[in-house]
Amino acid sequence: MVFIQPYPFHIYICEGVVPGPCVSHFISSQPVKPLTEGKMSSGVCFGKSKAFGFCVFGWMNGTKSLSSVASESEIKRISLETLDIEMTEWPRPLHTLRYVRDPHRHRVRLPSAPSAVPDWVDGPATNPRTIGTPETTAQVHPQLFTRKLVAVAEAEHGLEVVIGELDHVAVDGGGRATGAALKDGRVIAADAVVLALGPWSGRLSMLNSLFRVYGLKAHSIVLEPNEPSVITPHALFLSYYSSHGGRPMDPEVYPRPTGEVYVCGMSSEAQVPDDPEGIVGDVESIKVLKRVAGTVSSLLKEGEARVKAEQACFLPCTDDNKPVIGEIPGVRRCYVATGHSCWGILNGPATGAAMAELVLDGKSSIVDITPFSPARFVGGGSRRRY
Ligand SMILES: Cc1cc2nc3c(=O)[nH]c(=O)nc-3n(C[C@H](O)[C@H](O)[C@H](O)COP(=O)(O)OP(=O)(O)OC[C@H]3O[C@@H](n4cnc5c(N)ncnc54)[C@H](O)[C@@H]3O)c2cc1C
Repeated sequence: MVFIQPYPFHIYICEGVVPGPCVSHFISSQPVKPLTEGKMSSGVCFGKSKAFGFCVFGWMNGTKSLSSVASESEIKRISLETLDIEMTEWPRPLHTLRYVRDPHRHRVRLPSAPSAVPDWVDGPATNPRTIGTPETTAQVHPQLFTRKLVAVAEAEHGLEVVIGELDHVAVDGGGRATGAALKDGRVIAADAVVLALGPWSGRLSMLNSLFRVYGLKAHSIVLEPNEPSVITPHALFLSYYSSHGGRPMDPEVYPRPTGEVYVCGMSSEAQVPDDPEGIVGDVESIKVLKRVAGTVSSLLKEGEARVKAEQACFLPCTDDNKPVIGEIPGVRRCYVATGHSCWGILNGPATGAAMAELVLDGKSSIVDITPFSPARFVGGGSRRRY
């Protein structure tokens, strides 16, 4: 069970893949503890993240992300310090390129002008552009990173992990959160509750009566090439024109230091399933990603690379494309951190650091999260019903 130690302040964090564990990490390293982290299943969260883990510093200005309001250098510092907790080879700096893959246009290699495209990319590649250098782009391993955060918080800071599905947040007559009621009947008393449920946030009436969070299903495959040593640390962003015509796609290709190559793309809005363990990729989308891989490099073709994983996961998206981070209007001591879309791993540490301050000190100074407050949805015509 939970809360066996006589600490004065209990915080229940219903967590997701990165933002949730980051909240735990930052809160647990403060003198106030313990906290309890709840998750729907032991595997899906830190055990089985299917995202890539690409992190970029310097591109985000002008976008509606955390980094557009916080100092780039501060986000970078928080992220790198958090990401770099004794993980060999991670985070790994990357070169990042964008190019057009058009079967009707071929790359011309001039000896005097060596291409930015690495040699292992032997398919059509035109208009290559360097969009990230090892100083500005890096990759982390979401599973290792999150496992490490949770393990440190458990071993060193008294974090207690509860496996169970949150049903609702218990709220007293004065509008203050008092704990988490789980579907199996357990009620975990808490002085504060943080909801980091990703695309499942919309299933809680406390949240969906205020704003919409929807899931964008994205596919990925993990390949193990027969010749991994040839593949250099270059992340590839493609404008991909198919030989069959149609609109261009925008798949991404990421080599890992393990020798694996991760290829993702093929996204569309879809309902999240009840059980996150039950997410499977659509056959056609997986087929397209395999074709993409084989046309990027002959080393990634069938026969030259083993398919280690075929998978899908959901991006948590909001209607105004901004994350939602802050105290829920009308429910004191209940907080939400969701809507990170395709940048939840990059922005997870800054979200965690800001949320820890908000919960413990009543305001965040490390990152200005005011633009992300759920209060922005109040008055938007939604009806409160919890
Ligand atoms: C293919 C792909 C590639 C990506 N690549 C990158 C990348 O390179 N860089 C980057 O920064 N971001 C990337 N992302 C985005 C990143 O994965 C997300 O932004 C991030 O996972 C969002 O985290 P979250 O915790 O909000 O939601 P999730 O990761 O979806 O976690 C939500 C969790 O909440 C749990 N949950 C739901 N309901 C309940 C309940 N009632 N009770 C208990 N637990 C519950 C679920 O078990 C689930 O594990 C990628 C995403 C995809 C799909």
